[in-house]
Amino acid sequence: MHVRINDFVAVMAGNEAGKTGKIIKVLTDKKRVIIKGINLIYKHTKPSQKNPQGGRIRKEASVAISNVLPVCQDKNCKKYNKGVRTRKKILENGVKLRMCVYCSSEITADE
Ligand SMILES: [Zn+2]
Repeated sequence: MHVRINDFVAVMAGNEAGKTGKIIKVLTDKKRVIIKGINLIYKHTKPSQKNPQGGRIRKEASVAISNVLPVCQDKNCKKYNKGVRTRKKILENGVKLRMCVYCSSEITADE
């Protein structure tokens, strides 16, 4: 998986292409991710105790994981704030890092 939860990603294809946001959920089996504020749909809900009126709520629908790339957040990168391909770097202690292919800065997820 090239992206993970809390990654700041850009959508590269589909209806939401060009938008960026943070991954709030990874649906591993379906190979899809849910990104905060992206691909919003209306979900119709029945009246419940929590929401006595019922009605429509805005909710994120999932996006194919193959359509998203992590965003490079290095200001000196020519792809700053855009989705970038990454390459892996494995440290001597076995830790895997993801590096931007353009500027080699590390891509990190927000904690
Ligand atoms: Zn970069």
